[in-house]
Amino acid sequence: MATFLDEMLERCRSTARAATESVRDLAFPPCCRFCQRLVASNQDFCRSCRVGLTASEPQMRCGCGRCGWPLGRMPAEETRLPTECPQCKDQSFHFDRVIPMWMYQGMVCDAVVAAKYFSQSSLADTLGRRLGGIVSERLAEDRVDAVTFVPSHFTRQLSRGGIGVQTLATAVAKRMGTPCKSLLKATRRIAKQAWLDDASRVHNVRDAFRLKKSYAFGSSPDLCHRHILLVDDVFTTGATTNEVARVLRSGGVSKVSVAVVARSVRSAHSSPGPQRFQDATAPKRERIRNRSRDARTG
Ligand SMILES: [Zn+2]
Ligand SMILES: [Zn+2]
Repeated sequence: MATFLDEMLERCRSTARAATESVRDLAFPPCCRFCQRLVASNQDFCRSCRVGLTASEPQMRCGCGRCGWPLGRMPAEETRLPTECPQCKDQSFHFDRVIPMWMYQGMVCDAVVAAKYFSQSSLADTLGRRLGGIVSERLAEDRVDAVTFVPSHFTRQLSRGGIGVQTLATAVAKRMGTPCKSLLKATRRIAKQAWLDDASRVHNVRDAFRLKKSYAFGSSPDLCHRHILLVDDVFTTGATTNEVARVLRSGGVSKVSVAVVARSVRSAHSSPGPQRFQDATAPKRERIRNRSRDARTG
């Protein structure tokens, strides 16, 4: 009798759930998180955006286990990613590994810029959940104690009307079932890294971050001998993430993994000119900024 009642109750619940979802979909039709086209209720992106955004995902999965540089297909017999590559073998980092989701190119550049703005926080959330799934797979045997993020200066947050990277990190942490902690603070407003050459990027971020007071004194149990996952949106030369990882290590963190939505694949040793790199997508970025501003004021 009890089993029959349980079954009836469960049927009623699932019918009510389906009805609620149908009403919600009618009132708020599910849209592509990037271009706002209508999509099926179980889809985050429309087909065109999904193809454009995720095309590089398989390639980025087969990257250097240390710097995330894509290395092409892994040999069939290999089960572990290489621990260094020609791109990073002469470099020293304060982080242990970079896990990139996509290559920083084309539509991905637009999505990354858009996700910084308050009006596009559902896009940041979607990107974060997807990145969290990839990180969970990669770090299945290397438990993360907490997720944190590269902080931005409050004046930058005001100009964007949002906390893009924090939204991203919160979604990553939620997907991983790990706490997200705001461990760091930006000490000053820095120039945008994309406008600078490689040497200037290192100088630009030097001492630009510090641990928050509650974690800075003594041996904080949140940091000491912990494995921290540092989330950021883009990894280009790694100057910013390296500086933040250095600050985390100064607090006693024993391992820093970095997860990013996108990794630039221009050579760190060449000097293609960041301005040229930036300019290639500048018109599209301008359109996105305008769209975000219109959404805020509209
Ligand atoms: Zn779309
Ligand atoms: Zn490498």
